[in-house]
Amino acid sequence: MTERFDLAVVGSGFAGSLTALIARRLGRSVVLLERGSHPRFAIGESSSPLANLLLEELAERYDLPRVKPLSAWGAWRRAYPDVLCGLKRGFTFYAHEAGRPFGADAERRDQLLVAASPNDDVADTHWYRPDFDAFLAHEAAAAGAEFRDRTRLRVLAHDASGFTLGADRLGSSSVIRARLVIDASGPRGFLHHALGLAEARFPHLPETEGLFAHFENVRRVGDMGTFASSDEPPYPADDAALHHVFEGGWIWVLRFANGLVSAGVSATPELARDLRLSDGGPAWDRLLSRLPTVRAQFAGARTTVPFVHRRRLPFRAGAASGPGWTLLPSAAAFVDPLLSTGFPLTLLGIERLAVALERDWDDPSMPARLSNDAALSLFEADTAALLVSALFARFHDFPVFAALTTLYFAAASYAEAARRLGRSGLSGSFLSGSHPSFGPALVRCCRMALGQDPGKRNELLATIGSAIEPLDVIGLSDISRRNWFPVDAADLFAGAHKLGATRDEIAELLRRAGLAPVAVEAAAP
Ligand SMILES: Cc1cc2nc3c(=O)[nH]c(=O)nc-3n(C[C@H](O)[C@H](O)[C@H](O)COP(=O)(O)OP(=O)(O)OC[C@H]3O[C@@H](n4cnc5c(N)ncnc54)[C@H](O)[C@@H]3O)c2cc1C
Repeated sequence: MTERFDLAVVGSGFAGSLTALIARRLGRSVVLLERGSHPRFAIGESSSPLANLLLEELAERYDLPRVKPLSAWGAWRRAYPDVLCGLKRGFTFYAHEAGRPFGADAERRDQLLVAASPNDDVADTHWYRPDFDAFLAHEAAAAGAEFRDRTRLRVLAHDASGFTLGADRLGSSSVIRARLVIDASGPRGFLHHALGLAEARFPHLPETEGLFAHFENVRRVGDMGTFASSDEPPYPADDAALHHVFEGGWIWVLRFANGLVSAGVSATPELARDLRLSDGGPAWDRLLSRLPTVRAQFAGARTTVPFVHRRRLPFRAGAASGPGWTLLPSAAAFVDPLLSTGFPLTLLGIERLAVALERDWDDPSMPARLSNDAALSLFEADTAALLVSALFARFHDFPVFAALTTLYFAAASYAEAARRLGRSGLSGSFLSGSHPSFGPALVRCCRMALGQDPGKRNELLATIGSAIEPLDVIGLSDISRRNWFPVDAADLFAGAHKLGATRDEIAELLRRAGLAPVAVEAAAP
């Protein structure tokens, strides 16, 4: 007997389950198919202001009151103390030179702290994926999605009218017919193999390798004298996505509320080869032996799960949709963990897919709509990849690296503010890649950064400065801040004209975003 569904969602990571949940709210019949079972280890943990805003908006639009608290630290901890997460107040970067302790430059030229939220309550989070994904899969099932874990799938037939899938589960086989297959199984996932889809490449991005695990007993940099400062940082540097950057790669350190730490390295092929990264733990030790201050942070640390080695982190599908199928952005492309672009890219794709399911399901234009949306998802991944490629090219020159990151922070915070004002059209696609002036300026800056002409360094810095100015609503252009950027309501008031907003609209935005009214009044001109 053939079971029939409107949608088959393949993969019950957060993206597949959230999509299934939304589709159920829109009245579609859904089967959610998972190869493994929950809870399970998954990588990709650090959210961002834009990701959380998207999650919140999806929860509001599709009546998901149980999902909404997961979009901010305070609400999450109050609603679900047993679903583990970590506090993320911002993005912390420290620059290291091989064989030398962290320099702790008095002018802070070797560090960058960009606050993402004004206080803990509305802060972003690190998602402990075993808990988070299990929660969402349970929600999808409770909403009526047919959830099948431990399922091996194969494509029996497919055409524009849909897919027939063979599903083996616990020794029995079934046949599933779905009008649309949504692939949420990650890079090089189910449809990539089943349909033999072509893989493209990000032209400038190194074929990085990853090595990562979870740890306990990792020291907080705030407790290490090396990082001490007489000034008060914009937020505790450890309550963040903490990046240690160095020539050839970077290490992430993400801290969960119970003290568990997610850490790993993304390394260029040259560094990965040099470290023999596929060795796992010994390679991690070899890496830390080159970075004395990071080694001190991990002295006494112990892994709680085995190291995972990924030989090729980046992936880009040649196409992300076809007759009867579409890939979520997370199955269509992955760039690098740098700047936490995975979640917002994925959520933007889910947002578009939800609109298509809502408005165009019975319309003959649905395939064209899915195809356009998929092309946009790939364009957004290409934009992120270009910026990350430029950053990889400048690990050795931290001031330029830090300046390049402002392209991300300017675009992301502008997009967040524009969305909060109900004007998301102002910012365009992810990283404002489709913005008429910022998009081309971003490309120009990245191309310059990818060039090797040292004579053009100052020109590059000036070009970045001009590029971010029209979108900078968080004070990134203010060099007196010496690489520490707090959330300051005054910056948003000063940048109101860039958003076409009045003072009252900005004050309202800040109140809704969780800045105490007193802070708003104090900052208002
Ligand atoms: C090293 C690393 C670090 C990252 N860090 C960040 C970060 O800090 N912030 C960020 O925003 N993004 C990050 N990302 C990206 C992030 O991991 C992804 O955006 C996110 O996991 C996507 O979620 P997902 O649910 O689509 O996919 P996944 O979490 O990959 O889930 C896919 C699911 O599909 C299932 N599956 C796979 N194949 C099949 C099959 N054939 N049949 C059935 N089921 C199948 C799997 O078992 C899994 O449950 C990182 C990625 C990597 C590789």
